[in-house]
Amino acid sequence: MLHLNYENPYLSPFEEFQRFKTHPLVRTTLEGGKRLGYGARALTEGGWQSVPQLVFPGGALIGCAAGFMNVPRIKGTHNAMLSGMLAADHVAAALKAGRARDEIAGYESAWRTSAIGHDLRKVRNAKPLWSRFGTISGIALGGLDMWTNTLGFSLFGTLRHGKPDFASLKPAAECIPISYPKPDGKISFDLPSSVFLSNTNQEEDQPVHLRLSDPNLQKSSEHDRFGGPSARYCPAGVYEWIEEAGQPRYVINAQNCVHCKTCDIKDPNQNITWVPPEGGGGPNYPNM
Ligand SMILES: Cc1cc2nc3c(=O)[nH]c(=O)nc-3n(C[C@H](O)[C@H](O)[C@H](O)COP(=O)(O)OP(=O)(O)OC[C@H]3O[C@@H](n4cnc5c(N)ncnc54)[C@H](O)[C@@H]3O)c2cc1C
Ligand code: SF4
Repeated sequence: MLHLNYENPYLSPFEEFQRFKTHPLVRTTLEGGKRLGYGARALTEGGWQSVPQLVFPGGALIGCAAGFMNVPRIKGTHNAMLSGMLAADHVAAALKAGRARDEIAGYESAWRTSAIGHDLRKVRNAKPLWSRFGTISGIALGGLDMWTNTLGFSLFGTLRHGKPDFASLKPAAECIPISYPKPDGKISFDLPSSVFLSNTNQEEDQPVHLRLSDPNLQKSSEHDRFGGPSARYCPAGVYEWIEEAGQPRYVINAQNCVHCKTCDIKDPNQNITWVPPEGGGGPNYPNM
């Protein structure tokens, strides 16, 4: 897991993972094994402080779409089920009252006092403390806060998350490029062969589902100022800056997309919008 509020645009989550696997404490577990699958997914880390409006006419957000994952535990299936049940209770009550296609406002006002709210409230400061004080001190303080929260109080109140992930990148000129080791083909692997194992498949003949609001901004800012981080943060090699007649040209290999939504979150200008592709395409993770 890599937090998307990282600052260095030269960082590659994929390469960090390959490097992590070669750590002496991890390598011994993986040696002699076989790579079976590959995938990537962005997790909703905002929790209690970041849950958006949940209801709209005729629908509601539940589960991870609502941001109900418990970050320090990396667990969300319980809250996905609980929120589905809570929303269903309110839908049933609305139908019974002869209502339809309106907002189930009761679900919106009920979740914070439900089991979901109790779960998320206790861990609300874990990620803000981690972001502010780093891995060692931040996790220690987060652990202390979670412990006091089980007793019913917090020394920190409710901490804010700070800036959004897309605003955390520094310009490339202020950062040191990162040199990653070559994959050994046994424990660490290259990106194309990994993406192949995601079984990603999209309808070829469709509009690109990764929409650029302003193509010129991609060159003037994403490339010139931030050094083209999309070529590194995308775990499927969808984005490339290639040289053409001495000029950089942005290429979007949309068919490789594994639907992790990182680009929508991390593009420094919020210039990329992920929209659902046609035909129910995307990765197929039979073993994950
Ligand atoms: C690496 C990892 C480890 C985890 N470990 C745990 C764990 O040990 N325990 C735990 O409780 N939780 C764990 N979680 C979290 C857990 O997976 C999520 O909280 C949970 O899956 C959320 O369920 P959901 O139904 O809300 O969303 P999802 O499981 O994400 O389901 C959403 C579904 O909607 C589909 N979809 C998206 N867009 C469209 C569209 N436009 N049209 C049609 N379908 C669409 C997606 O393909 C997906 O199948 C882990 C998550 C990750 C990434
Ligand atoms: S294009 Fe965006 S959503 Fe698709 S794999 Fe790359 S970062 Fe993830």
